[in-house]
Amino acid sequence: MRAPVNKIIPFSSVDGPGNRTAIFLQGCNQNCLYCHNPETINMCKNCGICVESCPKGALSIINEKVVYDYDKCCNCDTCIQLCPNDASPKVRYMTPEELYDKIKNYLPFIDGITTSGGECSLYADFLKEFYTIIKSENKTTYMDTNAQIPLWDKEELLKVTDKVMIDLKAGTNDDHIKLTGRGVDTVIENIKRIAEMGKLFEIRTVVVPDIVDNMKTIEVGSRLISKYPEVRYKIIKYRKFGVREEYSYIKEPTSDYLQSLKSKAEELGVKNIQLID
Ligand code: SF4
Ligand code: SF4
Repeated sequence: MRAPVNKIIPFSSVDGPGNRTAIFLQGCNQNCLYCHNPETINMCKNCGICVESCPKGALSIINEKVVYDYDKCCNCDTCIQLCPNDASPKVRYMTPEELYDKIKNYLPFIDGITTSGGECSLYADFLKEFYTIIKSENKTTYMDTNAQIPLWDKEELLKVTDKVMIDLKAGTNDDHIKLTGRGVDTVIENIKRIAEMGKLFEIRTVVVPDIVDNMKTIEVGSRLISKYPEVRYKIIKYRKFGVREEYSYIKEPTSDYLQSLKSKAEELGVKNIQLID
């Protein structure tokens, strides 16, 4: 069993509590207008457009497939800038054991690992095996997810998952479809059920003015978590950085507007709020 690993950040302080190794898997089942890592959305179609542009000869085509040589790559990202398919050729397919092997030297210095994406829950069986190895090393396992698959059904995976962090992109189905291409019902059900299990670490909403009803999103999110004082609501300012050119028209929110959303969450009983302005 292998999963496509897009990137490993050895030490991160923004992907869950403490110092964590963050692992990003390729491929996503949403297509958010403001995606900040659009090259993680799709799998490479092996069109070959990026191959000749690589200044280090790290890309080649073998048997009609693009092959990536990690050791030659200088991370200039020319290939990603050229890709017309929101994909990346810089993907390594690894087994859970191979991924563990890549990160095991970081273990003495970290609290645990966080898997993200793309959308890591697309590789639930892989995660179960990988988390099992990490737990055997007495490190914590966090899943950063858009919650578009019914996680509550993945009992074996949840047994080895310490905490889950869920994006609530919008509070209504129409807004969620407009922003991500998918509805919000499964996301909300996941938030409810994972919170009941005591495994919800936080929900996150990126505030995007004019595109969706942000106040409604905050109301929906706050009502879902207000009875769990330990669960954090992370309210994040949308930033243009890294967003695809065609969506660069989206405005950034003002600090006053962000504060009004935070006040609404407080008014609805959320105790643990982090505002990223
Ligand atoms: S980032 Fe892409 S283009 Fe640049 S060296 Fe690596 S594979 Fe080649
Ligand atoms: S990464 Fe993009 S441009 Fe390169 S071969 Fe794959 S689909 Fe084509």
